[in-house]
This record gives sequence, structure tokens and C-alpha cells, in this order.
Amino acid sequence: MQGTFIGSVKLVFAALIIAVLGACGPNQEDASESGSSVMAEPEKVYRWKLITTWPKNLPGLGTGPERLAEKLRLMSRGRLDIKVYGAGELVGPFEVFDAVSQGTAEMGHGAAYYWRGKIPIAAMFSTVPFGMNAQEMNGWLAYGGGMELWRELYEPFGLIPFAAGNTGVQMAGWFNKEINSLSDLEGVKMRIPGLGGEVLKRAGGIPVALPGSEVFTSLQTGVIDATEWVGPYNDLAFALHTVAKYYYYPGWHEPGPTLEAIVNKSAWESLPEDLQVMIEVASRSVNDDMLSEFTARNNAALRTLVDEHGVELRRLPDDVIAALKSASQDVVAEAASTDELSQRIYDSYMAFLADVRAYHEISEQVYVNIR
Ligand code: CA
Repeated sequence: MQGTFIGSVKLVFAALIIAVLGACGPNQEDASESGSSVMAEPEKVYRWKLITTWPKNLPGLGTGPERLAEKLRLMSRGRLDIKVYGAGELVGPFEVFDAVSQGTAEMGHGAAYYWRGKIPIAAMFSTVPFGMNAQEMNGWLAYGGGMELWRELYEPFGLIPFAAGNTGVQMAGWFNKEINSLSDLEGVKMRIPGLGGEVLKRAGGIPVALPGSEVFTSLQTGVIDATEWVGPYNDLAFALHTVAKYYYYPGWHEPGPTLEAIVNKSAWESLPEDLQVMIEVASRSVNDDMLSEFTARNNAALRTLVDEHGVELRRLPDDVIAALKSASQDVVAEAASTDELSQRIYDSYMAFLADVRAYHEISEQVYVNIR
């Protein structure tokens, strides 16, 4: 009897399962039919141009936009097909901002301090002498109100900015003479961009704005006496050790520059929402990836420079650092005084820096010193 009862229960369950599957069947077919009808629609392919301020495929800086384009191509299954142009291939390195603003290209990759001549305060979205490091910049942009202010600043130019790369703390640069006191900077013609260039000017030097592609030749031919570029990994690739003897640290002028991806606003608005999200996610990914690459490769490159090429590593003297720091405070404050928005950007940056520094003084800073 019991065996028959269990058998009956099994039958009832089997019938129920068949009934449930039967009820699901048509719905599933409906879903797959509607799915396949969406798939069958021809998908629009957006073919974009991405122009950069970097030499094509330069390790670190130049590979950043290449990886950004490649990630977007894969994520979108080819719907966002972006061709990357190195500096000078389509427009000059310092014409990227205007070219994307005008729609000559849909997208650009560079650094906000290159546009300081047009918008003095833009440099704060790249780097500020004696300002925030990479970790702190990322915090300010993502959670401290920085990104909203950056968008507001670029809005009149029809541009949408994204953080898309960071080198970490750079090196102070390459010199052919020792810098033992502030007077050694007097009259030195140095390639140095951004607010750092203005600071050098106050300290007696002569800042020169040059794109990366012209740095080596300019130093070799004596057009400039000194240059900063990035750090060991990128500087080794540029062979700067073959045209300068002394390699100075720390990079007081670029403590963690954010690189930018900029998108033409009309091009952005033409995209469906999923492709817009992909640009946001891929930019964030490249922003993180570039810092990881520099972090992983800088020291090996520095060892090569010092051990194999005889580069002389030097620390800037404390009194030189102190003078540059003092001048920096004036230069940054002056950039803020241009207009109301510049002042708000400055206030936001400085408030975040004060806040994050208070905690980092008992966390990151102490930890680095005790380990
Ligand atoms: Ca630099």
C-alpha cells in the first residue's frame, strides 16, 4: 500500500512538473522570439577618431588611449569602433582640445594642463605643484565633487571629460648641471608644462612648452637646457639619459597627474546609453591600469638608467624645494582668481586636499615611513 502511495505522489509531482514546464514553454518562446527580433536588427556602428597629445604607442601614455579604444571595441562588440591617432597624425598635439571641441575628432586623450593658455584653472584637473597625488586625485574626482566641476568647466566648449590615466609621482627632471641652490635654476630653459612651468619662472627659470615628440631633439640641440618628462619608465623609452647626465627627484610639479579622455558633446549625445556607460567604465579602467603599469615598471627602468647607463640620481636640495613650494601657492591662487567658477574649483580642490591630507598624515604617510 505504502509503495503504491509513494508511486502516486511521484506521478502527481511528475504531472505538476510537466504542467509547469508547459506553462513556461510559450513564454520562453515569446522571450526568445522577441530577443532574436532585436538581434536581427542591423546594429549601428559608430566609427570615431581619437586624437592624442602623445607620440603613437609611446609606452604608458600612448598605449593608454590604444587600450581604451580596444576595450571599447570588445565591450561593444564592434559597435564603437575607434581609431587612435598619435600626435601630429591628424592634428598637432596641442590642438587636441580645439579639434574635439569643433568635432574634427569625436574623442581626444591628453592632459588638462596643456590647455592652461585657454583656461588657466584647467591645470587643476591634471596636477597641481605640491598638490594631490594619484590616489587623492581619484578620490576628489569621483567622490569629492571634482568631476562635476570639471564637466562644468568644459561644458561651454562642448566637451565631456573623463579621468583616463595617471603616472603617479613624476621625476623632477633631467639636467646637465647640478642644482645645488636656487641660483642654479636662474636662466635655465626647461621644458615643463602646467602650473609647474609658471612656478619655475618665479624661481628664475625659463619654462618652455613642448610636446613629448620634441623633447629629446630640443635637449640634444640645446634649444632647452633641461627637461622633465614623466618618470623612469617613460624617460628611458625617450632615451633622455643620452642627452642629460643628472636625473633629479622628486616631481614636486607633478605629484600624480590625471590624464584626460575628452568626448565631443554632440557625438556623446548621439550614442545609446549602453555605449555611454562603456566609455565611462573603460575610461575608469584605463585610469587605473596606467597607474598600475607605471607602479610596476618604474623601478626596473630606474635601475637600468643608473646601473647600465650611468645616470646620476640626485635629490633637489631642501631650500630649492622650499622656494618652489612658496611660489606654487601664489601661482595656484592666481589661476583661481580668473572668474567665479575657477574660484569654486580652487576652493573645492584645496578643501579636499586639506581633508585628505589630515587623514593621510596618520595613515599612508606614516605607513610608508615605518615599513
Ligand atoms: Ca611631466
